[in-house]
Amino acid sequence: MSAPRTAARTEALTGWGRTMSTVATVVPAIHENEMASYIREANSRGVLARGLGRSYGDAAQSGGATVFDMTTYNNFSLDQATMTLTAQAGASIDDILREIVPLGFFVPVTAGTRIITVGGAIAADIHGKNHHRDGSFGAHVLEITLLDGAGVVHTYTGNDPEFWATIGGMGLTGVILSATFTVIPIQSSYITVDTERAKNLDDVMSRMIERDHEYKYSVAWIDTVATSGRGVITRGDHATAEQCMQDGVTNYFDYDPKNIATAPGLVPSGLLNRWSVRAFNEGWYRKHPTHRTGELQRLGAFFHPLDGVQEWNRIYGPKGFLQYQFQVPDSAGYLVGHTLQKLREVGALSFLTVLKRFGPGNQAPLSFPQSGWTLAADVPAGVDGLGRTLDELDALIAAEGGRLYLAKDSRQSPTNFARTYPRLNDWREIRDRMDPNRVFTSDLSRRLAI
Ligand SMILES: Cc1cc2nc3c(=O)[nH]c(=O)nc-3n(C[C@H](O)[C@H](O)[C@H](O)COP(=O)(O)OP(=O)(O)OC[C@H]3O[C@@H](n4cnc5c(N)ncnc54)[C@H](O)[C@@H]3O)c2cc1C
Repeated sequence: MSAPRTAARTEALTGWGRTMSTVATVVPAIHENEMASYIREANSRGVLARGLGRSYGDAAQSGGATVFDMTTYNNFSLDQATMTLTAQAGASIDDILREIVPLGFFVPVTAGTRIITVGGAIAADIHGKNHHRDGSFGAHVLEITLLDGAGVVHTYTGNDPEFWATIGGMGLTGVILSATFTVIPIQSSYITVDTERAKNLDDVMSRMIERDHEYKYSVAWIDTVATSGRGVITRGDHATAEQCMQDGVTNYFDYDPKNIATAPGLVPSGLLNRWSVRAFNEGWYRKHPTHRTGELQRLGAFFHPLDGVQEWNRIYGPKGFLQYQFQVPDSAGYLVGHTLQKLREVGALSFLTVLKRFGPGNQAPLSFPQSGWTLAADVPAGVDGLGRTLDELDALIAAEGGRLYLAKDSRQSPTNFARTYPRLNDWREIRDRMDPNRVFTSDLSRRLAI
C-alpha cells in the first residue's frame, strides 16, 4: 500500500497573462519523498513544478499533468558571514527581501516583481535592471539540489552541465528543491535615482548607450502611443548610509512594501482603449521631470512598483494579455522602433513598455539574455491582426540573431524557437540524461516541441 499523500486538488491554471487555461492535478509540495513518488508514478502527461505563476504564458502549467505547487516548500536561511542564502525553491523573493533587507542585504538580481519564487527565478534565469553589470540570476547561484526524472536527488554546481541546463531550463530538467546563491551587502533600503526624459526613441537609446555603464541599475519606459517613441530613463545605485543621512532619512533599513490597491475584478476590455492608454502614456511622461538627480527612492518603488496593486493583470479583462519580450544585438537596435511602430499600426497599445540593455549572456543553453537590447511590451490579447504582426516580427528578430523570452512567451512557433536558441540540441542531450522518459513537461514544452 502506498504512503498517504498530501491532498491534491484539480485546478485550472494560467500564466500571469490569463490566457490559455488548462486543468491539472495540483499537489502542494511538502515532502521531497512524496514528490519523488509522484515522479516515479507519473502518467503520460508527466509532472511540472510551479512557483508563483508570474510567467506570462504557458510555462508553469501542464494540462492533465501533476503540478507541484512549490510555494509550500519555502524555508530559507541567510549566512551573513559568507553572504549566501540557501532557500527551498518555493521561497518567495518577497519573503526573502522582508527578512534580509533589514539585515543589510539584497538579492543579486531582481525582476520587475518580487512575487516570484527562487525556483522560478532559476528556471527562467531572470534578469533585472542590472544585467549590463551583473548578468542574470543564474550567475549568482552556487549550488542547486534537484529531483530528476527518476525521482533521485542530485546536487549540482557550476561545474556540472546539469546545473546550466537547469538554469533557464523552464522546469524541464527536474524539480529544483533548493538553491544557494550569493546576496549583496547594502547600506540602506534606498536607491539614489537619476531620471531623464528623452524626446524620442533615438534619444532614449543613445543616452542609454552613453551612460548606462555608470549605474548599477537602468531601465527606460517608452511611450508607445507617441510616434516619436519618447521615454523616461531611470537609473540608480544603492544609496549609502551617508546619502540617506544627508536626505534626512534616519531609519536606513526600514523596509515594509505594502499593497496600495487591488485591481477591480471584471474590467470590460473596452475600458482599455486607445484613449485611456493615450491618457496614461501622456500623464506618465509628464509626471517625470526633464532631468533630476539623486532622488532617494525606496527599494520597492524603484524595483517593484506594480506589486503595490494586487492582481493588476485583471485590468486586461476576460481575454487576458500577453507580453512580447525580445532581445536583439546592438546591430539590430532598429527593431526596437520597428516593433513599436508595428504594434501601433495594429492598435495593440501598451501601458507598460520597457527597454533595457543586456550585457553578455552566460553558458546556460536556454538562458534568454545576450548582449544588446531587450524590449518588453504588454499588449491585450485578441487584437485583430496581432498574431500575424507578431509572427512577422518574430521572423525579423530571428534573422538578426535575436530571440523571445520563454517566461513571457505564449504564442511563438516551434520553428522560430528552435531557430533562435541555437544551443537547443546541447540542452536536449543533457535533459535526456536527466529525464530520459520526459516526465517533466509543460504546455510550453509541448507547444514548442522542446
Ligand atoms: C510584473 C512582472 C514583472 C516581471 N519582470 C521580470 C523581469 O524584470 N525580468 C525577468 O527575467 N522576468 C520578469 N518577470 C517574469 C518572472 O520573473 C518569471 O516568469 C519567473 O520565472 C516567475 O517566477 P514564478 O515563481 O512565478 O515561476 P512560475 O511562473 O510559476 O514558473 C516559471 C517557470 O519556472 C519553473 N519552475 C518554477 N519553480 C520551479 C522549481 N522549483 N523547479 C523547477 N522549475 C520550476 C516552472 O515550471 C516554469 O517553467 C516578470 C513577471 C511579472 C508578472
